[in-house]
Amino acid sequence: MRNLLPDEKAKLNRIESEIRRLFKIYGFQEVETPTVEPLELFELKSGEEIRHRMYRFTDLGGREVVLRPEVTASIVKLVVQELRSAPLPIKIGYVLNVFRYDEPQYGRYREFKQGGFEIFGTKSPLADAEILEISSRLMEGLGIKNYYIKIGHEGILRAALTNFSIDENVQDRVLGLIDKERLGEAFEILSSFRKGEEAISIIRSLREIKSKDPDEAFRKAGGVLKEIPEAIEQLENLKEIIELAKASKVGEFLVDMGFARGLDYYTGMIFEVYVENLKIAVNGGGRYDKLAGLLGWDVPAVGCAPGIDRLSLAMDEKTVIRDDLVCMIVSMVKEGDIIAAKLASMLRAKGVPTFVDYTRRDVSKALSYASKRNVKYVALIGGRETEAGTVTLKNMETKSQEELRVEQAVEKLSPYSLQRLDTHI
Ligand code: AMP
Repeated sequence: MRNLLPDEKAKLNRIESEIRRLFKIYGFQEVETPTVEPLELFELKSGEEIRHRMYRFTDLGGREVVLRPEVTASIVKLVVQELRSAPLPIKIGYVLNVFRYDEPQYGRYREFKQGGFEIFGTKSPLADAEILEISSRLMEGLGIKNYYIKIGHEGILRAALTNFSIDENVQDRVLGLIDKERLGEAFEILSSFRKGEEAISIIRSLREIKSKDPDEAFRKAGGVLKEIPEAIEQLENLKEIIELAKASKVGEFLVDMGFARGLDYYTGMIFEVYVENLKIAVNGGGRYDKLAGLLGWDVPAVGCAPGIDRLSLAMDEKTVIRDDLVCMIVSMVKEGDIIAAKLASMLRAKGVPTFVDYTRRDVSKALSYASKRNVKYVALIGGRETEAGTVTLKNMETKSQEELRVEQAVEKLSPYSLQRLDTHI
């Protein structure tokens, strides 16, 4: 777990505001769920991998609890418990921290933040495509261009396994192992079933189908699955989702027919977003139609969780709007403090980021501090200004300066009001 210093935090904030802008544009309502949740919630379907990496403890009331290792299960609980009578579809967003006892390494932290977009109450492929569209727009909104979406479909894999009489619990285990590239173990489990060898052969063939040309991938998969109508139906679903996504200008796809994700709750389309030079996924999601049913309300759902810290690694520094100060007020004599206090309060009332230098240090030192903090203007108040009731306003970029009455200085700086800047974000 890390301290986040100002530059890094500014970058993370920029990503969070882009996520919140997308909530508004796509009609998602933001919620917050508890950091500490009952252990059972994640034992349901969060997958072996995540379950092994939870921060779990017994609280003072003797309850087994965890720090949330992911947010989807909590959102499902919230929707099932509190929003059952809300009109469908329900579109929920969040920006929350999660905790996993992962091995710390590049882009892998023990506390990190996820944004989330979850749509409940529809099986329409339009909803799946919308989640992909949002994922694409997020990358573009952050100025990240060289990304691609790896996409697959757990419904296809599950239909194929069901066809060979492999039950859901075994499917969960096998898909979890495939996600971790532990194929040997996955196939060993399958081989103990009567039709296991046939299942292994289909999975092997599907795993070989990886293509940036969706049509090619569909043609090959159609051949492999032709004897299993339920799997063909799922394949059609993936095809439709990709067609809809393409109509919304969703970025490049890598169709991977053997792709599985570690979370057990996925039932349909699944995807991860990658950036060419980072080996780790920056976003992941998919359709999970049965999870809410386990908590008491059978409602289909699809969603994704962009990893904010990883997006930050993928982002160019230049796209970050830093919260620079607009004005620093330097009162050089004690008598100037009244004007300093008055000017600061008037500027802040207008929403202009203002900083008062309390130190009465040498002016050159104050100016050097101001340039380190990227301050735009310095208001100097010395003996002369105090007597005249004015300030000398210095433009730190052009180095020009002018003597103004307090009201004039406020007028001049008010275009930098944060309220006004906000309207551009
Ligand atoms: P998941 O909940 O596993 O689907 O993860 C969703 C996203 O969260 C991933 O695509 C990553 O961007 C991010 N993520 C997962 N694990 C970590 C971690 N240990 N540190 C930072 N980001 C992570």
